[in-house]
Amino acid sequence: MNATAESSSESMDFQAEVGRLLDLMVHSVYSEKEVFLRELISNASDACDKLRYGALTDAALAGEATDFRITVQPDKDARTLTLTDNGIGMSRTELVENLGTIARSGTAAFVEQLSGDAKQDSGLIGQFGVGFYSAFMVAERVTVVSRKAGETVAHSWESDGRGRFTVALAEREATGTTITMHLREGEDEWLEPHRLRQIIKTYSDHIAIPVALIEDAEAEPETVNAASALWARPRNEITEEQYNEFYHHVGHAMDDPWATLHWRAEGNIEYTGLLFIPSSKPFDLFQPERKNSLKLYVRRVYITEGVEELLPGWLRFLRGVVDSEDLPLNLSREMLQNNPVLRQIRNGLTRRVMNELQQKADKDAEAYADFWENFGPVVKEGLYEDAAHKDALLKLARFRTTKDDGWVSLAQYVERMAENQTAIYTIAGDDLAALKRSPQLEGFRAKGGEVLLLTDPVDEFWTSTVQEYEGKPLKSVTRAGADLSGIKAADTDGPKDQEPEGAIGGLIAAVKLALGEAVKDVRVSDRLTDSACCLVADENDMDLHLERLMRQHGQKVDKAPRILELNPRHSMIKRLSDSVDAGPDAVDRMEDYAWLLLDQARIVEGESLPDPVAFAQRMAKVMEASAGE
Ligand code: ADP
Repeated sequence: MNATAESSSESMDFQAEVGRLLDLMVHSVYSEKEVFLRELISNASDACDKLRYGALTDAALAGEATDFRITVQPDKDARTLTLTDNGIGMSRTELVENLGTIARSGTAAFVEQLSGDAKQDSGLIGQFGVGFYSAFMVAERVTVVSRKAGETVAHSWESDGRGRFTVALAEREATGTTITMHLREGEDEWLEPHRLRQIIKTYSDHIAIPVALIEDAEAEPETVNAASALWARPRNEITEEQYNEFYHHVGHAMDDPWATLHWRAEGNIEYTGLLFIPSSKPFDLFQPERKNSLKLYVRRVYITEGVEELLPGWLRFLRGVVDSEDLPLNLSREMLQNNPVLRQIRNGLTRRVMNELQQKADKDAEAYADFWENFGPVVKEGLYEDAAHKDALLKLARFRTTKDDGWVSLAQYVERMAENQTAIYTIAGDDLAALKRSPQLEGFRAKGGEVLLLTDPVDEFWTSTVQEYEGKPLKSVTRAGADLSGIKAADTDGPKDQEPEGAIGGLIAAVKLALGEAVKDVRVSDRLTDSACCLVADENDMDLHLERLMRQHGQKVDKAPRILELNPRHSMIKRLSDSVDAGPDAVDRMEDYAWLLLDQARIVEGESLPDPVAFAQRMAKVMEASAGE
């Protein structure tokens, strides 16, 4: 950040991503600009929550945490709209960091991806609240004066949103923050008390802190919102709109929730949960920290958010609030660890969410598919992390298969298994379309056997711990053991189980000789119908896709030699076999053919060729020879 100091005032550049975000703000990505007020009130309310909690753990702050209130005051003469709060405030460093960069992890990278096309981007931006910067939708200049709790000096921050901002020493009588928006031309709507009242009521009714409108300098403050914690109110007194608005506030989200769960647990542990399942995928779902963002309250007092002990990692997409009656108010970070109350709440939440999901899955398969599409890859992490919920999670899981374009449950799969089929067949890969064309599937398709298509990286991990579903083992079709002989052919076009193995014995021996250590074995295939050859893993070796995946993630894995399977029904294989059987000349030429078969199988599998130059040379040689025929 470039800084030019002039006395106490300093001018700095915005972080590049903030610049882009501001650009989008000015060109107004939202059709409803009024959300700026919601965003600012939401920040002010968070700031009050933080000070309330700060005062509980730090006696020095106790005197400053009094009568929390947010005010909204228009000034028609000055054409300004001013928001104040008596929350925690910001130090000089915090002003620079919070209002000059995008602090939340992953957000900067996300903004980087935005295309600049307002229409397209607004959908993406909708995934997270744009926060403070949305003030620039209506303001040509924004001034923030803030005094941090525990400090005696205040600082100001000012910007016109065009690349730079200024910070300086300032005056403020007490702790808190004042934000003044100098409205753009044509934005006089935000000076009208009835309009402001309506926005506050619509978007901020659920905020537990009073939001007061001060119509003009002489007017008395008038509290506009209900100012009681939404989750503490009875369910039948809360409208869907109020729930949705609360979700936007706690979830920093713009979509509407896919499901809303609001309940009060009573018994030996008492708490209230208000949880939301989003209807669109948050952009930071796959960040390595796997953090949740649930807010923890104790008897209506905000404590902290993202407590790992409160929610399993595989439910991190949930948004909302948990308010405990049993935890102490002065709960420190250390006390959160190994806390038996938290553990019980976590179990309660998990069960509750799983029940809800099961009910939704039973009631409306299509709507459930939307959920699974978004969050299935996360929920599946629970299959290997949470043994206690494994069975229930397997019931909730949905899969793509070779037979169906929709999502299929394991129960459905098992119910329509082929006669004599004893295993649940799977194949793993990076993308659905490529997987569907895998040669390993040919025999299964011909025999009418259904195979689960696993395309999420997490699939490799749970399939190695969850070995069966209702007594049926899971078997990868890319393994040697997944033979088809048990499945009765559905039609006569399928591979013939009775194909004499010895028929291409000469060819197999010649290929084996040529390839040596490069393969573990060369065998006759009963799984291929159209392709000449494919690679499979030996029964106890690592699956081919998993090996690739681990290498992509920088893990050192030994390359296990694979088994090369040849299709004795394929005309090319038959001709090669005939020529091997015809005499010793052909055996010499076999070396090139053998390597070409292996490289072909590698390419189809999605593996890279260890020696592409040798492949090209052999290919040229063979083409030249055949062109001359
Ligand atoms: P978000 O609220 O999503 O984190 P914002 O851009 O709205 O993003 O705000 C950035 C940060 O600035 C907040 O996380 C908070 O730390 C700080 N902040 C914003 N408004 C206030 C306020 N009124 N009082 C204290 N801190 C604030």
